[in-house]
Amino acid sequence: MKHNWKNNNIGRRDIVIITVIPSDVDDNGIARLDDDRFIRMEKTNLTPPEGGKPVPVLMMFNSMMMAENERIDSCPSCSNPLPLTRPIFLMEDGAFVYPCLDCEWVWCDIDQSLGNEFV
Ligand SMILES: [Zn+2]
Repeated sequence: MKHNWKNNNIGRRDIVIITVIPSDVDDNGIARLDDDRFIRMEKTNLTPPEGGKPVPVLMMFNSMMMAENERIDSCPSCSNPLPLTRPIFLMEDGAFVYPCLDCEWVWCDIDQSLGNEFV
């Protein structure tokens, strides 16, 4: 079945509360929802694990875009290998968020090791 992206895409101005599990997010940062709509994670706000105010995603990148010696090799939470093409989100508050296929949404502050690598 062919999808019409324009119609299925959730616009930036829509306020939609959804739960996306990391494995729903593909390498382009696009999550496919149960009802076959798509959401571009780069244009969303994510709620930190401790709750509170949702934080806008500032930009998306992956390890392939980084210098070889600065790449993140493993998930900071479960230590499994972090694929070069997996998206990593830089949040407006400076945190980094990684949708790990092996564990969970991983949030890292700048002063943690993952964040320092990125600066
Ligand atoms: Zn992990």
